[in-house]
Amino acid sequence: MSLKTHSVVIVGYGGMGSYHGKLILDNTRLKVTGTYDVLASRREASKEDGYPAYESYEAVLEDPSVDVVLIATPNDVHKELVISAMQHGKHVICEKPVTMNVKDFEEMMTVAKETGRVLMVHQNRRWDEDFRIIKEMYDKKTIGDLFQIESRVHGANGIPGDWRHLEAYGGGMLLDWGVHLLDQFVVMIDSKITSVTSRLSFILGDEVDDGFDAVLEFENGVTAIVEVGTTNFITLPRWYVKGTEGTAVIEDWSLTGRSVMQNREVGKIEPKPIKAGVGLTKTMAPPSEEATVTEALPKAFEHESSFYDNFANVVEGTAEPIVKNSEVLRVLNLIENVFKAARTREVVKDFDIYEPKN
Ligand code: NAD
Repeated sequence: MSLKTHSVVIVGYGGMGSYHGKLILDNTRLKVTGTYDVLASRREASKEDGYPAYESYEAVLEDPSVDVVLIATPNDVHKELVISAMQHGKHVICEKPVTMNVKDFEEMMTVAKETGRVLMVHQNRRWDEDFRIIKEMYDKKTIGDLFQIESRVHGANGIPGDWRHLEAYGGGMLLDWGVHLLDQFVVMIDSKITSVTSRLSFILGDEVDDGFDAVLEFENGVTAIVEVGTTNFITLPRWYVKGTEGTAVIEDWSLTGRSVMQNREVGKIEPKPIKAGVGLTKTMAPPSEEATVTEALPKAFEHESSFYDNFANVVEGTAEPIVKNSEVLRVLNLIENVFKAARTREVVKDFDIYEPKN
């Protein structure tokens, strides 16, 4: 039996919209049949890429041959575009952040329920291999119980583009990269977040944050340190994690990394003191080679399907969404409280809307 192909119109044919166009070419369940962008130049670009461009959003919504609308516009207009698409009977894929606050997303979820349409948010970094390796280590306890997980993305190019510099469009790095990194923690750690502290950075003088750091504490004892920087000419590792039996690092997107554990077979070996600066230390001396075991990182766990296949299966009623709206809502609530912690410079507690899975 051949599966149905769902026709998709990409709305917002900029950087990410055109990237979806390329990615969906390799997918058998979805087919891009057109695009719409407010800019004539982007409608021309779409035609050059082989996708017919609609002249208005209304024309997309009134076209009965369109099954799915994929929203890849700046963040401020996601809500109105998503809601009207569902009210016209379309299923929707929406780029992250789906919207900027909990209240707006609750309204969108209500419309999804009322219309019976699928609304799935493109939290694509759940498929990133670096994240899937760390989640595998967390779940399988390959270096014992992970108790501190540090997740960083560092760049030196400032805030990109135009609208990302402006608050009214939902700009800033917490809403841009932060939403990915926080989403990864929400799906990895099945425990309530008990507190958050954070700082936003405004090094570049924009009205929105050009980076942030946040510390999240989970009820199960895990601490997460999350950092996004756009003024970092020297980068720190993408992931640095500490477990009860070892330490692991993933340096970069090429997945260079390793884990180092105590060698249980040889037992404890006293380190030799080293000269450190002008002093002498045994505490900070590196463990001898025999005292530790260095291993390659484990293989990443696999999702049961790609984002697009999962979306098609959800539309057909044969699968549960991998990106659940309850998780998206929890991340938006977390983001609101990261902003609050930064603004008030206080530890924010008792905000998480975590619901135990079992
Ligand atoms: P962009 O500026 O490159 O493109 C946005 C496009 O939307 C522009 O061509 C603009 O003309 C068009 N547009 C604006 N308002 C519109 C409207 N009302 N109707 C139709 N078109 C409209 O921005 P981008 O970098 O492509 O980001 C777009 C979205 O994709 C954002 O939500 C962003 O957060 C998200 N994004 C996601 C990822 C990811 O990995 N998931 C990566 C990049 C961007």
